[in-house]
Amino acid sequence: MSGFDRLPITLSALACAVAALYSTGARAQAGDAAQIAQAAQAVQTQVVAWRRDIHQHPELGQHEVRTAKLVADQLRKLGLQPRTGIAHTGVTAVLKGGKPGPRIAIRADMDALPVTEPAGLPFASKVTADYRGQPVGVMHACGHDAHVAILLGVATALAAQKDRLPGEVMFVFQPAEEGPPVAGEPFGAKLMLDQGVFKDFKPEAVFGLHVWAGLNVGQIGYRSGPMLASADEWSLTVRGKQTHGSRPWDGVDPITVGAQILLASQSLIARQINIAATPVVLTAGQFNSGVRFNIIPDEAKLVGTLRTFDAAVREDTIARLRRTAEDYAHAAGASAELQVVNNAPATINDPALTRRVLPSLQRAAGEARVKESAMVTVAEDFSQFANTVPGFYFFVGSTAAGIDPAKAPINHSPQFLLDEGALEVGTRTMLQVALDYLHGG
Ligand SMILES: [Zn+2]
Ligand SMILES: [Zn+2]
Repeated sequence: MSGFDRLPITLSALACAVAALYSTGARAQAGDAAQIAQAAQAVQTQVVAWRRDIHQHPELGQHEVRTAKLVADQLRKLGLQPRTGIAHTGVTAVLKGGKPGPRIAIRADMDALPVTEPAGLPFASKVTADYRGQPVGVMHACGHDAHVAILLGVATALAAQKDRLPGEVMFVFQPAEEGPPVAGEPFGAKLMLDQGVFKDFKPEAVFGLHVWAGLNVGQIGYRSGPMLASADEWSLTVRGKQTHGSRPWDGVDPITVGAQILLASQSLIARQINIAATPVVLTAGQFNSGVRFNIIPDEAKLVGTLRTFDAAVREDTIARLRRTAEDYAHAAGASAELQVVNNAPATINDPALTRRVLPSLQRAAGEARVKESAMVTVAEDFSQFANTVPGFYFFVGSTAAGIDPAKAPINHSPQFLLDEGALEVGTRTMLQVALDYLHGG
């Protein structure tokens, strides 16, 4: 179905290229980078083709049926025995090297977004779907098509040198990183862990990457410690008492109370939280109430997101938000109820693992192109894996050279445009990270 039945290179030729890398048994040295680049280059025709195929056929979270089949089919061609249907559509497979060594996992997410892709690319998506009751276009606007293709490329290159490989590598293809089709259900990573992916096979480290419009192609972004935010979805229901809009004193106006709580919540962040120590963002994205101009309604509802980088600060902020909401409501004779659902904890790169992996990033991408990232307030449920075993996550620049990444449309925009050079850089860098780690580098 996918049209990639035959490898454009022979596996044995690739095996020779990769095997030469560590033939001395020494720890990875700078010179190896050229050969790893060769191995990455050797799978690029395929990686680009996989990425375009997946891009043209994007699927929303938990519906990655075609993508999962493409993944499982390719893994079988590598001689692996994929486990499918995890957390609905997730796929894993373990590559056992011919020598003893550590166990690691590498994760890619597979889902697309309810975003309509503009025409332009020859492989642009024309897919539509239903998202929470609304007809939507579907687009790989976050670049997960690239993640799947890169991990298949890494798997292909590693499988080619399986006999000489120390240790074992689990490839994790995860559904629903952007969230499940039904609000309130767990995201893909949590569901995969709940279904035991790290139980039978417990890696000592897990790696993940994300293509990122905020960097140019060739650049890598990383950060030790907190890198991406925790994302909470909060909803606040303010209950008042319905009455005629001309006689507010007969009722309790939940809209005014909701507005007061909203403004007080912003003062709370500015005046009560030590944002010099760690950033906190509180945003209301919805404020719904009422049906008619001259009726004060019974209820107002605010829904928003909270972003934090520290578990204790997160809990403290939620407690203060609850107190603020309840006390403002109480002052007006209303009531307020706050509900908070955590979609993803903060993504925290293990400091010791970061120290160990940084030289691999520098070898693969060149020292000058590896940038320390600022904390980023988007979230990633890779954190669920990284909270289970030590994890390391990095950005792969995806904005074409010559374009200012600060002005490039960011991931999730319909204008998000991945320069395919990022596929080669991503494959090369992840391959270097994995091989160096397995060889004890
Ligand atoms: Zn995304
Ligand atoms: Zn993403």
